[in-house]
Amino acid sequence: MLGRAIGSFGKALGDRRWKAFGAGLEGISKEKVDVVVIGAGVVGLAVAREMALKGRDVLVVESASTFGTGTSSRNSEVIHAGIYYPPNSLKARFCVKGRELLYRYCADRQIPHQQIGKLIVATSVSEVPKLSILLRCGTDNGVKGLRMMEGSEAIRMEPKLHCVKALLSPCSGIVDSHSFMLSLAGEAENARAIFSYKSTVLGGHVEDNHLRLHISESKDLENHDDASPLLPQLVLIPKLVINSAGLSAFPLAKRFHVI
Ligand SMILES: Cc1cc2nc3c(=O)[nH]c(=O)nc-3n(C[C@H](O)[C@H](O)[C@H](O)COP(=O)(O)OP(=O)(O)OC[C@H]3O[C@@H](n4cnc5c(N)ncnc54)[C@H](O)[C@@H]3O)c2cc1C
Repeated sequence: MLGRAIGSFGKALGDRRWKAFGAGLEGISKEKVDVVVIGAGVVGLAVAREMALKGRDVLVVESASTFGTGTSSRNSEVIHAGIYYPPNSLKARFCVKGRELLYRYCADRQIPHQQIGKLIVATSVSEVPKLSILLRCGTDNGVKGLRMMEGSEAIRMEPKLHCVKALLSPCSGIVDSHSFMLSLAGEAENARAIFSYKSTVLGGHVEDNHLRLHISESKDLENHDDASPLLPQLVLIPKLVINSAGLSAFPLAKRFHVI
């Protein structure tokens, strides 16, 4: 519902209207803050925790009523090994390093997780070359322990499999994503991060070299008719903004204007 509201808001507000809207903010309260993290998915939570632990004053602005209600609670909860990304890409490097950090984080805090390993299978001979490519790519990425096995060996591990060969990835695993996010949120709060739920970043504008964020209560977006521009209740003037709004991050960034 809220996602739809944000979407239609973005569409309804063409550039011209947005600029007029950006210029008419005189009567609206403004507040200077240190760091604003937009979105409390797993990425926003991890960033907020880290920044707060480093002594920054962090405000997390989340449009939903709690953290982790978006993609972060609708995924497969797999801890990926780092096999698929192109070698030397940031994704490959972060996936491999992030996996090690995630296992350590979960083990230290008894967050439910298990390094159960994964089998990537070729169900016909024609698929075997693809497994070889993945083996090479994963090895180049620094993924340890990857091993090609005959179908019969894989089927002994998982009798319901039908495959001719399999690639074993022993360092893949699973994690209870909600417990993980709960832990990140708790540690962020303990380090004095403040969470403002049901609050939406509508957009923003750059003034005096600073991005100013336009904030509204989420319920106002839900009730808003597209005919008139929606005024924010608050303008935040942060020193640093982290746009971790997930799939909304790009559309939101397009609503940051120079006026
Ligand atoms: C089907 C599927 C399976 C997946 N499986 C895995 C897996 O097994 N392992 C894995 O590691 N990854 C997996 N992923 C990917 C993973 O889930 C995502 O990369 C991750 O959850 C993204 O987190 P996020 O914090 O960037 O985004 P999100 O979880 O979407 O968080 C963004 C937050 O920003 C808020 N927000 C948006 N716009 C605004 C705004 N304007 N103002 C304020 N708040 C706003 C939203 O409400 C939301 O809470 C999977 C993804 C999918 C779709």
